[in-house]
Amino acid sequence: MLEVRELVKKYGEKQALRQVSFEVKAGSCFGLLGPNGAGKSTAMKIITGVTGMDQGTVKVFGLDIKKDADPIRRQVGYVPQDLTLYDTLSAQDNLIFFGEMYGVRGAELRKRIREVLEKVGLSDRAKDPVKSYSGGMKRRINIAAALLHKPRLVILDEPTVGIDPQSRNHIFEMIRELKKDGVTLIYSTHYMEEVEALCDDIAIIDHGSVIAQGSLDRLLDEYAIKAVYAETEGDPEALKTVPGVTKTTPFGKGWMLEAADPLSLLAELSADLKERQQPIKALELMRPSLESVFLRLTGTSLRD
Ligand code: ADP
Repeated sequence: MLEVRELVKKYGEKQALRQVSFEVKAGSCFGLLGPNGAGKSTAMKIITGVTGMDQGTVKVFGLDIKKDADPIRRQVGYVPQDLTLYDTLSAQDNLIFFGEMYGVRGAELRKRIREVLEKVGLSDRAKDPVKSYSGGMKRRINIAAALLHKPRLVILDEPTVGIDPQSRNHIFEMIRELKKDGVTLIYSTHYMEEVEALCDDIAIIDHGSVIAQGSLDRLLDEYAIKAVYAETEGDPEALKTVPGVTKTTPFGKGWMLEAADPLSLLAELSADLKERQQPIKALELMRPSLESVFLRLTGTSLRD
């Protein structure tokens, strides 16, 4: 569905993308995960033909973005990070404007507007001016605008930044429904839990380079820190000597104890601490997370 090869983009001296490559399978939700400034928006703008590249190739539906930007755009729905709505117009009038821009007209456009408003859960507010909407509602209308022409590929750039939980849930639901309908999605975010909840395949991008990619399961399996969390009232030094512990790091109110086999360590710790009569306040398996994948690969937290 999409093939990005060795993309390079500079803004003056600033190198925003350094040889970025990834592929997106038809019908999947692909997560582009990385901190602010990593290069996610730049990659999306290049894929949608909004901005040019310095080097590399981008093929969408087998077509080259440099040669066939127009036919590609007709089948892609792009939701940029910045809202592009007319505040004084109603949601409906905004959608008429965007629909016509995408070449949808007349009865078909009216039908599609009803359908997308239903999809984003704002049918009852369709006639109100957009300026009366919350940030999350505006974001949902912005997404609705990108769906009017029934795109095969939908690209969403950080769609949940700064919005209320209700709108966030609506957006999640909508993405799952689009996927069920066979639409391919690219979703950029710096929220790992969103990628974990929505995406099949992921590219982690940092300082303009893809530092890891693959299925969520593979990345967790290969890179996630495997550990047990332990909180005890006694001497924490004792935890370091338990067989199987490879590394001990302060974590929350207790310790993160890394081990090749955290499940065995959990059993070992429980028995060991009981034997030493060391009171245990908490002892639990740490769920492998993308947070720890990022930490392991970059040495920093994604939220830094
Ligand atoms: P992200 O979407 O991951 O937050 P961006 O693609 O927006 O990252 O930005 C990548 C880098 O390129 C950042 O360092 C950013 O400051 C820089 N950048 C983005 N757009 C421009 C621009 N129009 N002019 C100059 N620098 C830019």
